[in-house]
Amino acid sequence: MKLVLFGPPGAGKGTQARRIQEEYGVVQLSTGDMLRAAVKSGSAIGQEADRVMKAGQLMPDSMMIEMIAERILQPDCAKGFILDGFPRTVKQAEALDEMLERLGKSLDCVIEMQVDDVELIERISGRFSCAGCGAGYHDHFKPTRDIDICDECGSGEFTRRLDDTAESVRARLKVFRDQTAPVLPYYEAKKILYRIDGMADIDEVTRRIKNILLATANLS
Ligand SMILES: [Zn+2]
Repeated sequence: MKLVLFGPPGAGKGTQARRIQEEYGVVQLSTGDMLRAAVKSGSAIGQEADRVMKAGQLMPDSMMIEMIAERILQPDCAKGFILDGFPRTVKQAEALDEMLERLGKSLDCVIEMQVDDVELIERISGRFSCAGCGAGYHDHFKPTRDIDICDECGSGEFTRRLDDTAESVRARLKVFRDQTAPVLPYYEAKKILYRIDGMADIDEVTRRIKNILLATANLS
């Protein structure tokens, strides 16, 4: 299985990727994790990446591609991989295709988890959790039974993540849209782009992803 998973922050991509990973024995590859792993491995590309990052520079696409190539040839990726957070530009998408072709591989499918921005902002920005036991709540969807008292432990202290405000969620969504908007038509033209409703029930989203994989990927 060779899959690219698209979706804005907060769409539940991580949860779905973990489920696919467990079910099919493939590896989820996020660019951040790959970078850290490459640096830690001390490989030539890892040392180069380390230098670039320490100098505070942006990782060139060619280096990123080389790192992915090195990573997907490792034994744990024998059954395939899920790319998450890459590619972000058409240039990266083209370079990825060229690299895979060089290795005699190609992407099975690209799945976009579509979300309704207004609904996603409402979902994320209303989250808060108990400072005592960590129980999760939501202003509209899952308020505490008694005002300001945790259902689970009775604590009256709650925390909200600073980046879960409507403002910052909106900003993250905009960055995502601006970056990825041109990449999706690239895959659409190749007829490997599938869109699913990312706002559906979490199990339903998993079911739809599996159906696409069954139709497109070699799952042996
Ligand atoms: Zn609590």
